[in-house]
Amino acid sequence: MLRRIAHFIKTYTLWELLKGLSVTGRALFRRKVTVQFPEQRTPISPRFRGKHALRRYPNGEERCIACKLCEAVCPANAITIESEQREDGSRRTTVYDIDMFKCIYCGFCEEACPVDAIVETNVFDYHFENAADRVMTKDLLLKMGDKHEKQIAEDREVDSQYR
Ligand code: SF4
Ligand code: SF4
Repeated sequence: MLRRIAHFIKTYTLWELLKGLSVTGRALFRRKVTVQFPEQRTPISPRFRGKHALRRYPNGEERCIACKLCEAVCPANAITIESEQREDGSRRTTVYDIDMFKCIYCGFCEEACPVDAIVETNVFDYHFENAADRVMTKDLLLKMGDKHEKQIAEDREVDSQYR
């Protein structure tokens, strides 16, 4: 009987609603934990594995020596490499494609690379509008590397301190 009276009073005094509003009221003046993305961004780990990039040396030469270790280690078979020997005897890729639909962002390619050529940047907010765009070609990967080289170098410097 008492429970029914309590339920009756709670129903007509909008008790549950007031209880909910009290929670909102308490949170109103607390420090905000949400950010206005994309204008505001939260810190990202230097080891974050986002969109890939191919790096160059400071003189502009491609780092990649077409050893194909990244292609061999990739568990998703996402990397396709074709290569040729240059006149100076060095080996370079003619094709370096990454199928971003297959990629599972495991970072194995980055770990396997002996010359720090293929890396994963901290870029995570990207999209494709056509299925064909899922393939990151060598040109796109190099452009990505050129654009983000400063951040990539800083991240790898920090990361090296933990290895
Ligand atoms: S991150 Fe992993 S799955 Fe993606 S290309 Fe590299 S090795 Fe392959
Ligand atoms: S990116 Fe690195 S591991 Fe892959 S082929 Fe080039 S040098 Fe070898």
